[in-house]
Amino acid sequence: MSHPLVGMDLADLREALGSAQPGYRARQVYEALYRGQASEFVQISTLPASLRSELSAHHRVGLPEVAQLYQSADGTRRYLLRLDDGRTVETVLMPEGERDTICISSQVGCPVDCKFCMTALMGLERNLTAGEIVGQVLLVTRENHLRQDGGRLNIVMMGQGEPLLNLENVVKAARILLDPGGFALSPRRVTVSTAGIIPRMEELGREPVRPKLAISLNASTEESRQELMPITRKYHLKDLMAACKAYPLRPWEKLTFEYVLLRGVNDSEGDARRVAKLLANLNCKVNLIALNPGPGIPFETPDPERVAEFQSTVRRSVPCFVRKPRGLDIYAACGQLKRQLVMPE
Ligand code: SAH
Repeated sequence: MSHPLVGMDLADLREALGSAQPGYRARQVYEALYRGQASEFVQISTLPASLRSELSAHHRVGLPEVAQLYQSADGTRRYLLRLDDGRTVETVLMPEGERDTICISSQVGCPVDCKFCMTALMGLERNLTAGEIVGQVLLVTRENHLRQDGGRLNIVMMGQGEPLLNLENVVKAARILLDPGGFALSPRRVTVSTAGIIPRMEELGREPVRPKLAISLNASTEESRQELMPITRKYHLKDLMAACKAYPLRPWEKLTFEYVLLRGVNDSEGDARRVAKLLANLNCKVNLIALNPGPGIPFETPDPERVAEFQSTVRRSVPCFVRKPRGLDIYAACGQLKRQLVMPE
């Protein structure tokens, strides 16, 4: 079967087109695929008809297929996308006021095993390719007629998977999304989130072209973090804070910390004070997420008053926001991506 072109960078495309084509053809295909969001070769009007039919005969664009679409009462859409090998993965579109955010996956399932997250219950099925990562964005923008140049579009790699455990493909996808000749999004509009894989954070920091970084903190002490996020037995809180301190931020950039609030577990005033202290000398902001519940998750959501108090304590030291849950009714919110079926009412 022919290889999909989505996910190829300029050098890959040159090779795929072969030496019989002049060099600039690869660039035309590259620009049409990403900036132009072409989903079929016949649409690429800059190419001669002969090349268009040759491409159609031997290649395919290679976007994922929509296996199921769930529509939330709040406007959120969860896409279950079918990949080439028949596996499915989820992508979420959250339209809101002045902006549209697409939450994409980096792996099918996730190996990290956080105790509050439904994706963990899937385990890891496999890494996504760079093409499957970029393909999620192109599919959702195409289906919803979204443009990347209107200043509305944001991408977060916060779906299924731990992006930094698939760093090579994530970086390749990010280069295509951020390349001014490619999908041409600003690096301010793309965020990758990690459970705190310290050596990979250092690698990402060395990339000249990279998204912004968010870190899932989720606990205020080493002990509680290791219980909630077993992977952190390898990557200690103290070392994580040192890596954050050393992270090479660009002049316009702040780190983001995410903190899921679990009633009676990590949501006390003491926790809030410890979070404030941990982050006090970092250039950062905090997003609090009250637990989104789901089958198999043995925790409860704190009351809104507790969340507000926690926020005001953390705010004494760093900017702190409460993330509004989106798509709760269709299992599209943070920590709910597990290919959950939603029964029609
Ligand atoms: N593996 C990466 C990317 C996933 S991001 C990471 O850990 O950062 C998913 C975000 O959702 C994380 O910040 C996580 O803390 C949060 N989350 C996970 N399960 C949740 C749940 N049940 N309710 C609310 N937030 C949750």
